[in-house]
Amino acid sequence: MEPPSARNLDMIELLDEIRAMIAERGSITVEQYMQLALGHPDLGYYMNRDPFGATGDFTTAPEISQMFGELIGLWAAEVWSSMGSPDPVRLVELGPGRGTLISDALRAARIVPAFRNALDVRLIETSPALATMQHELLVDCGVAVSWAQTLKEVPNGPAIVIGNEFLDALPVRQFVRVSGQWRERTVRVNSDGALAFDVADRAEPYIRAAAANGEVLEVSPSGHRLMFELGTRLVKQGGAALLIDYGHGVTRFGDTLQALRAHRYVDPLAAPGDCDLTTHVDFAAMARSASATGAAVYGPVDQGDFLRAIGIDLRTKALAERASPDRAEEFERARARLVGKGQGEMGALFKAMAVADRRLRPPPGFQSNTKSA
Ligand code: SAH
Repeated sequence: MEPPSARNLDMIELLDEIRAMIAERGSITVEQYMQLALGHPDLGYYMNRDPFGATGDFTTAPEISQMFGELIGLWAAEVWSSMGSPDPVRLVELGPGRGTLISDALRAARIVPAFRNALDVRLIETSPALATMQHELLVDCGVAVSWAQTLKEVPNGPAIVIGNEFLDALPVRQFVRVSGQWRERTVRVNSDGALAFDVADRAEPYIRAAAANGEVLEVSPSGHRLMFELGTRLVKQGGAALLIDYGHGVTRFGDTLQALRAHRYVDPLAAPGDCDLTTHVDFAAMARSASATGAAVYGPVDQGDFLRAIGIDLRTKALAERASPDRAEEFERARARLVGKGQGEMGALFKAMAVADRRLRPPPGFQSNTKSA
C-alpha cells in the first residue's frame, strides 16, 4: 500500500476535527461545514494548495485564456475613465487564485498608461499558499500591489472591484422544507463515523417562502454582507464592481452544493478540505442586497454575451493573426469555450453582474441592459 500523501493526511485531520466539533455540539450547519472545509486556517481546501488547472481540481476562465483577464483589464480602464480618471484608483480583486486574471489585466492596461500609473492594486486573499503564488507572478509587474484578507482593509477612495468565481466559494446556509416548515440543513456523524446530512429540530418561522416538502433553499449570509459592503462603498466613494460566476439570474429552490476533485464531481461530505466546494450563485438575491444600498446593478448577463460585447471576437482574431496555426486554433478554441452556450461551454452557465455608483454611465458589456431599481 502506498503511504498516504500529505494531502490525504490533512483531509483526515480536518475530518477528525469536524467529527470532534459535531460530537461536542450534536451537529454543525452546512454553512459551518463549508466554512471549515474551504477556509479552516491550516487545513481548509484553499489554504495550502494550488487547486487550478489540468493537474488540479478545476479550471477557471482566466486559466483557460489570457484574453479573459486582458478584456477585463480594458473594461476596468474604460470604467476608470467614466469615473473621471481618479488618481489613485484602487483596483481590487476578490479571490485572485493564481493571480492570472490580474496579471493579464495589468499587461493589457499598458495601452492606457495614465490608468496604469494611477493603479493601487489590492488583492483580497485568505490563502497564504495562493497569496505567495500571486506575489511571485506579480513581483515584476511594475504596479504597486498589496494584499489584504478582507475588503474592509482596503483604504477609502474610488475603486474598481473584480471577482471571478469568488461568490461561489462563500459558505451558504441551506434550509429544507419538512412537513410545511423550513429547517436548517446540518451535518452529523453516522454510527460508522461518516458525515451525513440531517435537519435541525427547530423550525425557522421567519422564512416566508412557501415550497413543496423536500425543497431546499440556499442563503449566502457572507454573500449578502459582501454585496452590502460593496454597494455602500461604491455609492459613497465612487467606482464599480464586476462579479462573474456560475449561477442563476432568478432565485429558485434546489440544493446546488457540489464538490469537485480532479475535475470530477464527488460527495461533498466525503473529503472535507480535499475537494473544492461551491454552490451556484443566486444573482437575484445578490442584486437585491446591492440595490438596497442605492447602488446601480447591471445584469446579470450571460458571460458569453458580456465577453462578446467587450470585444472577445476581435481580440481572438488579432491574436490568431499573429500566431502560429496551432496557437491560432488554441485561441479560437478558448474563445469558443468561454462564450459558447452548449454543453461543456461556459458562455451561458456563467453570468456577469456589475454594481456601480449611479453617477457612472453603464459599464461596458452592460449598455443594452436596463438599470435595475
Ligand atoms: N478568481 C480566481 C480564483 C477563484 S477560486 C480564478 O478565477 O481563477 C476562489 C479564490 O477565492 C481563491 O483564491 C480562494 O483562496 C479565495 N477565497 C475564498 N474564500 C475567500 C474569502 N472568504 N476571502 C478571501 N479570499 C477567499
